[in-house]
Parts: sequence; structure tokens; C-alpha cells
Amino acid sequence: MKAKAKGGERRKAAGTALHEAEATTAADEDATTAADEDATTVEDDAPAAAPSGARLDACPGCGARVPDSGATPNPEVNASPGCWAAYGDVLARQYGEWGNPPIHRLTVDTYAAQHPGKPSRKSTQSVALHLIGLYLALERGTEPRRISQETGRMVADPSAFQWLEPPPPAGQLTIMDVVGAATLKEHSARVRRWALSVWEAWADHHDTIRRWAGG
Ligand SMILES: [Zn+2]
Repeated sequence: MKAKAKGGERRKAAGTALHEAEATTAADEDATTAADEDATTVEDDAPAAAPSGARLDACPGCGARVPDSGATPNPEVNASPGCWAAYGDVLARQYGEWGNPPIHRLTVDTYAAQHPGKPSRKSTQSVALHLIGLYLALERGTEPRRISQETGRMVADPSAFQWLEPPPPAGQLTIMDVVGAATLKEHSARVRRWALSVWEAWADHHDTIRRWAGG
């Protein structure tokens, strides 16, 4: 019964992500259903099965081709509406179904690091702190709560950071490789693979980020 309830929530989350896309074609709806039900491989969640002619906007941040959701991304984030909606569904599932699990912090840091907005004082600091979060989690194994404490202290000195030119989207995993996991364990594993892929994309700046984090 519990599993059934979870399945229902999954369906609801996917339905929200694609609520605008549902108005396209029946074939599109079939593809969505198939992807929702098959959580065994990450590839099956990619929207590549959508019919030719369907509008799939490449996200400027991560490059994922996702049906336009009609959502309005946060202006500080360089994301397509479809990608932003998929991220929102992942967060909703974490908050709701899984009660804010430890993987949440890594999810937020990874999405932000993959979708940096335009250079500004605020975005420079924001991207820096999210990249430091990735570094601490992935290379130092720091617990999420401790990461928040450490980055919280760094907020006091925004002049410590410079804008880092983001890597172009070039085959990294995306939020679309995360959606659709059947269990929290699988979800967490997917987020971690995605996070490692995004962290690797920032390799040119790793030394700077490590220095910011105090080594
Ligand atoms: Zn994106």
C-alpha cells in the first residue's frame, strides 16, 4: 500500500512537470508515461522519445532538451522553463515524499552550479558558494549540515570571490537524468552521479574553488 502511494506521488510529480506539454500530442503523452514507469535506467527518462516536431527547448544552462513547461525560471538561474519545472518537481518530491533527505543539499548545489546566471555581485557569490558546496560534499565528504555552516560563514565576505567563467553544457548529466527514480536510494545515487559530472565540468576552476574553501 505504501508503494502504491509512492507511485501515485511519482505520477503526480511527473504530471506537474509536463502539465503544459500534455497539450501537445497523444504520442507525447505516451512517451511521458513510458518514461515515468521505467525507472531502471537514466536514459529512459530523457525526453528523446518525443515525436519529431514537438518543441524541445535546449536548456541554456545544462543543454537538456525538455518540453517547454511554461514555468518561469528564477531570473538568477540560467535555465529553460522545462528544465526549471523538472527541478521543481525533484525538490517537491524531496520535501514531500522523502521529508528533506540529506541528498537535498547536493541537489541544490549541483543545479545552481550547472545553471549560473549573468555575472553580478550576488550571482558571483552564489555560484561560488554552491561550487564550494560541491567540493566539500564530493571531495571532502563533508556532511550537508556542516557544509551549510561553513558556507554560511563565507557569506560575510563576498569580496573573497570572483566570477568564474562557467563551462559550456557538453554532455554532462542533467536534472533529466535524476527524475523518475523509484526509491530514495536510487534517487540519491542519481543525484550523486549528476553532481560528480557537473563538478568535473568545472575542472578548470577546481584549484580556485579549493582555495576558497580553505583547501
Ligand atoms: Zn537545465
